[in-house]
Amino acid sequence: MQTTLLPISICDKIDRRVRKFIWGSTGDSRKIHLVHWEGVCQTKKEGGLGFRKAHELNLAFLAKLVWLFTKKPDELWVQVLQSKYFKTVNGVLVAKSSARSSNLCRGMRRAWPVTKLGTLMRPKDGMSTSMWTDQWVETGVVLMDYLKEDSPPIDPCTPVTAFEDNGKWDLNNLSQFLPDELLLKIAGVQPPVEGAGEDVPTWGLEVNGQFSVRTAYSLATDCSDKDDAAKWKEIWKWRGPERVRHFLWLAMRERLLTNSERARRKLTTSTGCGACGCDEETVLHVLRDCDFARLTWMQLIPPSEHHRFFGANLQDWIERNLRSEHTGLDFGLTCWSLWKTRNDRVFAGKITTTATFLQRVQAWITALDKDRLIHMHNPPMRTEVDISWKPPPPEWMPFGIYSITRAELRGAVEGLQLAWDAGYRRVILELDSECACQLLRTSDLSEHHHVAILDRAQELLHRQWDVSVNHIYREGNKCADYLASQGHTVPLGFHMFPLADPMLCNLTMYDIQGLSESRVVLNER
Ligand SMILES: [Zn+2]
Repeated sequence: MQTTLLPISICDKIDRRVRKFIWGSTGDSRKIHLVHWEGVCQTKKEGGLGFRKAHELNLAFLAKLVWLFTKKPDELWVQVLQSKYFKTVNGVLVAKSSARSSNLCRGMRRAWPVTKLGTLMRPKDGMSTSMWTDQWVETGVVLMDYLKEDSPPIDPCTPVTAFEDNGKWDLNNLSQFLPDELLLKIAGVQPPVEGAGEDVPTWGLEVNGQFSVRTAYSLATDCSDKDDAAKWKEIWKWRGPERVRHFLWLAMRERLLTNSERARRKLTTSTGCGACGCDEETVLHVLRDCDFARLTWMQLIPPSEHHRFFGANLQDWIERNLRSEHTGLDFGLTCWSLWKTRNDRVFAGKITTTATFLQRVQAWITALDKDRLIHMHNPPMRTEVDISWKPPPPEWMPFGIYSITRAELRGAVEGLQLAWDAGYRRVILELDSECACQLLRTSDLSEHHHVAILDRAQELLHRQWDVSVNHIYREGNKCADYLASQGHTVPLGFHMFPLADPMLCNLTMYDIQGLSESRVVLNER
């Protein structure tokens, strides 16, 4: 593949093998190819999977040989090839007739245009850079393509030195050939200087000027970056199981096997949705608009966003929601679960209630690394800081709670009740979950799935007393952290300790003395 020009038929066979592998076909079972091969071979930015077509990849590798051939004329293999297969005509290297040439030489000849397209000449003495046929002003610009209609005839072999005058470009002379905007660009290029050394070919598609097979491949396939690259990026940026990412990719391309898609492929005659009776079961219908999905999202998405959420088209909807961070919600996982639930219903007759569904999704979200969810889209800067317990203002009663959101909220409610019953009227509530803090500070959460416990918390918070809800790191209240870590040693339920154990006493002393501990934390945004 790297040094041999492969016959097209072999390349086709390789591609076929890859296709079968991607879609899971084996010897006698043929699976459905949900996305056409061209689509799979587009880059991830463009909405493909970034697979490479064998023939074009072969050309890219051979283009690398051509590149080395022009860059390293002193190497033995280059000299052998040059003397055997090439001749110089008017100072330009030309391959001899193809009849007697080797596979390698034929391969290089095939790849030559690819290398030529990527080569950006940097004139020094200007002798080996062609004014009209080389790219030297900028990548993608060959001056011959921009000649004025009434331009005088040109000689394609003219070197750039022909238009240099006393260390400056002869723009006056050039203006009869080229339009003004190109003259400006030429003026920005360092003019050639006699004796400055040989012109340098650089790889125009890489900032460092070095050849890369990746960019050569994109030249070979004539790929170009598209404007909608950003939306595909959200899918590949999503951090979670690969199968879910793959699912999201299929969803965004509208290639999930919904009834609508199955009918298009003649696998069924009905395009309708079996759950709600709607005429057309599309991807957006299953994931958002079908009754079950709609009810689920209404519980997860704040009412203020419903209009926007239910109004978007498929691709915008996926992209926007993968990008935004709804509290305690993972959009990708929820979509995937909706699809699984739909399949369970269609193929196994299993009916799931919204409550069970939400529990299942919540369990998955918890199972995934908690940190990954919080920092999924925008890895923030971190700094190491010293954290210690801060004494409350006089007459305030602090207590801390440490655990995941739901347990955290439960603890907050129990703690508030305890403080209220004990007669405290100025209380600081410290939690190590930012998410729980936010929930407690938000008043209207009638659609949230923790609604019951949040209602109770709101009732307590609105009593006739002062309660301040603060987020702290667990190092900031070691007593609470210690008690939380003891949780697994006592039976389930609510426990009160009339006496503090010695460890707790030590920690209290530690806190009172204001001893700090360092921790890497997020920078304030
Ligand atoms: Zn439906």
